[in-house]
Amino acid sequence: MNEIKFSCKRCGNCCRVPGFVHISKTEGKRIAEFLKLDFLDFKKKYTEWILFVGRVLKGNEDSSCIFLKDNSCMIYPVRPEQCRTFPYWKNILNDTSELKYVKEYCKGIE
Ligand code: SF4
Ligand code: SF4
Repeated sequence: MNEIKFSCKRCGNCCRVPGFVHISKTEGKRIAEFLKLDFLDFKKKYTEWILFVGRVLKGNEDSSCIFLKDNSCMIYPVRPEQCRTFPYWKNILNDTSELKYVKEYCKGIE
């Protein structure tokens, strides 16, 4: 398993890299409440269903997350688990080539 030394530099790159931010129903309800939105309105406006992937946050045209504004997360206190646990993901910890790729955009990893 790869050892990671990590301290976030708040560059926002992980919120811009192409990919999916998965979101559970519980997480969606928490975010909707935080945004003071009806859950179904939240789902429609900010999420999409991708075949074989599931429910994910929408992205902007430049592939950044829809919640990234001025390099900050608009929903930081209630951001999804996937965002909270980065970069301590199994595939990064278990795969050296994946870690190498992630290090290219995340300068918080030593
Ligand atoms: S929800 Fe917030 S932390 Fe997660 S990718 Fe979007 S902007 Fe980044
Ligand atoms: S890419 Fe790494 S250093 Fe930059 S905000 Fe994301 S976790 Fe922090």
